[in-house]
Amino acid sequence: MAIESPSAIDAPRVNGHAKTRTGAAGLDASRLKVSVTQSPKLIPSPETLKFGQTMTDHMLIASYDPEHGWSDPEIKPYGPLCLDPASSCFQYSTNIFEGMKAYVGPNGEVRLFRPDLNMARMRRSADRVALPPFDTDALLTLIQRLVALESRWIPNIQGYSLYLRPTVIGTRPSLGVTASDNALLYVICSPAGPYFKAGSAHQISLLANGEVVRSWPGGTGGYKLALNYAPTLKPQQLAELQGYNQVLWLLDDKITEAGAMNFFVVIKQDENNWNVITPPLDGTILPGVTRDSCISLSAAHPSRTILPHLPETLHLHTHERTLTMSDLRTWHEEGRLLEAFTVGTAVVVTGVGRIGFEGKDIVLPDHASGRGPIARALYERIVAIQEGKAEWEGWSVVCKSV
Ligand SMILES: *Cc1c(COP(=O)(O)O)cnc(C)c1O
Repeated sequence: MAIESPSAIDAPRVNGHAKTRTGAAGLDASRLKVSVTQSPKLIPSPETLKFGQTMTDHMLIASYDPEHGWSDPEIKPYGPLCLDPASSCFQYSTNIFEGMKAYVGPNGEVRLFRPDLNMARMRRSADRVALPPFDTDALLTLIQRLVALESRWIPNIQGYSLYLRPTVIGTRPSLGVTASDNALLYVICSPAGPYFKAGSAHQISLLANGEVVRSWPGGTGGYKLALNYAPTLKPQQLAELQGYNQVLWLLDDKITEAGAMNFFVVIKQDENNWNVITPPLDGTILPGVTRDSCISLSAAHPSRTILPHLPETLHLHTHERTLTMSDLRTWHEEGRLLEAFTVGTAVVVTGVGRIGFEGKDIVLPDHASGRGPIARALYERIVAIQEGKAEWEGWSVVCKSV
């Protein structure tokens, strides 16, 4: 690493970056400055919320430059950014993001769900596009402060939450194709209702696309980089034109993910033994927090917990293994394909009703609520843990306000 100035030579290092004499280079939560808005917004009624369209009053922001390191973090009124048009993020997509939610439990406590996993993934994403590193413990503390300040925005209704969007963008103002040594880290918040309206089936249709790939071996599909999503928008539009909700992404015959969600199937061995299968983390799959939670919870039934509405006599066998479209067709023909479902922070768990492939539909067994028994059990248990109504391995973290 190049030494930026002589004063930095003997200085201690934080996150591998030189600490200057004047300020700590690391992101330092204790140096947070808070300026509260003078004109708080009116909170819209929960039923009118559309995903990601309403932003709260405040945002968290910190900037990085190689000389000073991370600036003092600030929570300030939500508003536009002012950036140099040559910024790395606009030219070379040096952008990464996270998606997580804050929930209110029955006693009014505000909670995050497995935020350590989001922080670890965010660190890996930033590293993959050579953005400057940051202390993720400090970031989590700062996020908790922001969420505590914005807690009036979380509707205290089951299924509602505050969606959080931590983001880092490269702000190096230069056209050279090189790592961005300047960056902006910010977190914005948006109140969110349940993905599906009350009374509607919690179910989607998928169109398997064998022509356009989302991810490939050695590629970046395993990281939450903004550049992974732009190329998916056109195929998504085309799938909708053909009457499907989302694209089922393939790599040759292999199933990877559905839309921006992880994909699971349930296959019957016999009455009492069902396999719960999802593709392995081979670099083409985004390591979802919900995915990991579904794997752990299904593996725990019935030995360590009984999932909602499932019989104790049912044994779930969880596998991370390659899934192909021909597997799916075979299992379907044999009558063993019981369920397909997709998982992610926004939807939690949603059932798949049919999968279009090569001009035909694979139609899944009809489940009244839209979700099959496993998808429903996982959905109910995960939401209960998120809202603090059920405890599981410290997954739900109460937000400290100080
Ligand atoms: C974010 C994301 C997911 C879901 O991850 P969660 O941590 O469960 O929200 C799955 N697939 C893709 C491509 C994603 O971007």
